[in-house]
Amino acid sequence: MPARRDVLKGLGAGLGLGGLSMGAIAYRALLREDSLLYALGQPGPEVDAPELPEPSGRPLEPTLRLADGPLYIPKSPLRRDLRARSHGGQELAIRGRVLDASGRPLAGAVLDIWQTNAQGTYDVQGYGYRGHQFSDSDGRFELITVRPKEYHGLGVFRTPHIHFKIQGLGSRPLATQIFLPDEVEANAKDFAFDESLQVALGRREGSLQLARFDFVLEQA
Ligand code: FE
Repeated sequence: MPARRDVLKGLGAGLGLGGLSMGAIAYRALLREDSLLYALGQPGPEVDAPELPEPSGRPLEPTLRLADGPLYIPKSPLRRDLRARSHGGQELAIRGRVLDASGRPLAGAVLDIWQTNAQGTYDVQGYGYRGHQFSDSDGRFELITVRPKEYHGLGVFRTPHIHFKIQGLGSRPLATQIFLPDEVEANAKDFAFDESLQVALGRREGSLQLARFDFVLEQA
């Protein structure tokens, strides 16, 4: 059963065809639901993020699903830190939890992550700015990376975003993308942008800009 918001988003896409480029239509068609190719269930190393509030345990709206896009490459390396040695960008640490629809943390969920470098380019030859990790025993994850940049691809404009494919034990695979709230102009120009997928920007910790986002998975 698709969540109510998926249906609305799908309807919006159908009704809005006149306003979307062929590229945007092709891009939307690339929402895949294949299971991820990693063993599930083993929590990753603990994330040291005491500032994350406890999960509420109340029913939650599942995270909106967005297209994978054409540039997903499976079997990325296991790593939380995607920074290249000389990355030339602003450093970001995105922390949060993977929760089920009842607000309970999902330990051992796999998060497969990919994004552009700080210049707006994807690595399609190797695994630059690509990696997977497992949520810890409290469902927490931590991604350390650089700020992605806007780009044009398949004839569409994309605001800076980070792609995630996430799966927990017994949950439906989730493909989505997260956005940065301070990219106001670029976000407004992007057909796929959705307010509910914006991270919350927090304080700075050394060279890292902290941000947070919780993912809510539906049951399989
Ligand atoms: Fe992308």
